[in-house]
Amino acid sequence: MPAISNNLQLIGTTFPVRAKASVDSSVLGANSQNAILPSMRISYLECTRCGEHLSADRPQNVCPKDGGVLFVRYDLASLKGKLRREDLSGRVASMWRYAEVLPDADPVTLGEGFTPMLPSREFAHVFIKDEGLNPTGSFKARGMSAAVTMARHYGLKKLAAPSAGNAGGALAAYAAAAGIEAHIFMPKDVPLANRMECDYYGAHVTLVDGLISDCGRLVAELKEKESWVKEKCFDVSTLKEPFRVEGKKTMGYEVAEQLGWKLPQGIIYPTGGGVGMIGMWKAFDEMEELGWIGSERPKMITVQAAGCAPIVKAFEAGKATSEVWLDAATFAAGLRVPKAYGDYLILDILKKSHGTAVAASDEEILAAMRHWASVEGVFAAPEGAASLVAYQKLRASRFFRAEDKVVAFNTGSAYKYLDMIEAQEKKARPEALTARNIGGIIGPY
Ligand SMILES: [Zn+2]
Repeated sequence: MPAISNNLQLIGTTFPVRAKASVDSSVLGANSQNAILPSMRISYLECTRCGEHLSADRPQNVCPKDGGVLFVRYDLASLKGKLRREDLSGRVASMWRYAEVLPDADPVTLGEGFTPMLPSREFAHVFIKDEGLNPTGSFKARGMSAAVTMARHYGLKKLAAPSAGNAGGALAAYAAAAGIEAHIFMPKDVPLANRMECDYYGAHVTLVDGLISDCGRLVAELKEKESWVKEKCFDVSTLKEPFRVEGKKTMGYEVAEQLGWKLPQGIIYPTGGGVGMIGMWKAFDEMEELGWIGSERPKMITVQAAGCAPIVKAFEAGKATSEVWLDAATFAAGLRVPKAYGDYLILDILKKSHGTAVAASDEEILAAMRHWASVEGVFAAPEGAASLVAYQKLRASRFFRAEDKVVAFNTGSAYKYLDMIEAQEKKARPEALTARNIGGIIGPY
């Protein structure tokens, strides 16, 4: 048995074993009623544009007809009634506790997911879902755990992706854990932590003089090479393979489970590529099919940086897709996505959920970071702190009332951005950094 399964058995859990009709009772925790149901296969992959069905028996990127994003579909009808939400109690505190609605392969896991749902100290009905506590310090761990799990299952050898920073770090870590090569293309001005971690995880890093969209073009060029297929390479770019959504959708399952299976009135999600929001929306539909929740949905709120807000612009104009944002600039590196591949899905969710889209300036984000840190004890990534800006604006505009239950996502840890934060502080208050709060360094020791 692989070492990773042994580790997980120590904390009293098990995973579905592919192609086994039943779970071996000797690998279950003491409480066997928490057993994961027998392995279920993915029914098919479905194009979100034209509805075409594709096989999940081999790696797939996007719909060959129209480039639509592919969603993984399971046989949820046969699970309904058999898998009850009570069955989750006592399972592993990671996203793999939802094993029956995840790909049935041996997971490549570093303990991602089941992050804290912190009641706000400031607002009685607000919760902060702290994704900064994931392996590699961001929600990207979830998507990469699922994508790399399936890449190993398919026997792929090299994975390539463009990244604004944290996705690269997560891919590098999971690829290292799986013994697969990672090839990461990042803008040359990504946070230092992202460059460092990719290097240490042993990834091949290309720094690009441009934005994530330019990095994406380089990955597309690689795919044209003859060696691409021969060397079992695969493109795991955002929404260009179906499994990162599967990992990130577990945030939706967690919101429901951690709030006692009652979804909140609103969810604020910092939106770069938008996969977190797309995944959660998928999770809500799945949970309804499983009979775990009703048909009510939270208002889904996109927050973007004012310096790169293509979804906000498109939403305000009532458009179904967005346009490329020119001269994208913000220190919230993960929000510097000039055009999301899944923009049509995000805009559809905002509309269907009666949600909205909000922009936050870098100055507002920086102030919100300090506020959350000092009031809540949460040192949020700039992207995450943008959620607080959005909440404040939506309260001021009376979109949300004080009694509305709202989940604000902190998508990552500020520890990944120390260099960016310092630079931003210097820009905002040149004299501040040296003067403030330092008084009293004692030394030398
Ligand atoms: Zn299609």
